[in-house]
Amino acid sequence: MTLWFATGNTHKQTELAAILSGHRIKIPRDRGLFDFNPPETGNTFFDNALIKAQALYQVLKEPVIADDSGLCVDALEGRPGIYSSRYGAKEGENLSASARNTLVLEELGDSPQRRARFVCAMVLFLSRDRFLAVQETLEGEILREERGRGGFGYDPIFYIPEQGCTVAELTEAEKNRISHRGKAGKRLAALLSTTGS
Ligand code: IMP
Repeated sequence: MTLWFATGNTHKQTELAAILSGHRIKIPRDRGLFDFNPPETGNTFFDNALIKAQALYQVLKEPVIADDSGLCVDALEGRPGIYSSRYGAKEGENLSASARNTLVLEELGDSPQRRARFVCAMVLFLSRDRFLAVQETLEGEILREERGRGGFGYDPIFYIPEQGCTVAELTEAEKNRISHRGKAGKRLAALLSTTGS
């Protein structure tokens, strides 16, 4: 089926299209909505995913998927968390991904406690009062410098001990198999196939 993905982030669109390869993934821009960007006023990943899904559903009245995701670092009390995309922003001006990575590395300093996880809450809004929701994680550790050129965002500083590399050193298919977004998307697709649209 066609699923409208409530995002302007083309990296996330590419990932979700591969994860939900049995469905057609479109984004607001494909309907001429170039400035779809509802305020993320929630206190949790789930709240914000629901806000985005509801906002786009109200405009399109067609099945909508939305995710809210981010990096949670234990030694930073869960930061950047829901503020991952705007971490360190000044006067509404977002930092580059690499500047955000530097900020996290500086804040962590020499701390021996490097545990962190990526979190992804994903909501599939089917019709006015029906939705499915899941939340998944990818566990790992924060390195002391960037490594790898793939992926996006915090991928170059996120090391996965089981894989022996950072997320930025994985292929797209490897990342989608184990990532927070990959697992959430697959669980939603499985729910959808048992629930029906
Ligand atoms: P959102 O679009 O509001 O959900 O913001 C997500 C932000 O979290 C992104 O801009 C990245 O900074 C970070 N993030 C989420 N998922 C990933 C990932 O898979 N790799 C690296 N960074 C991610």
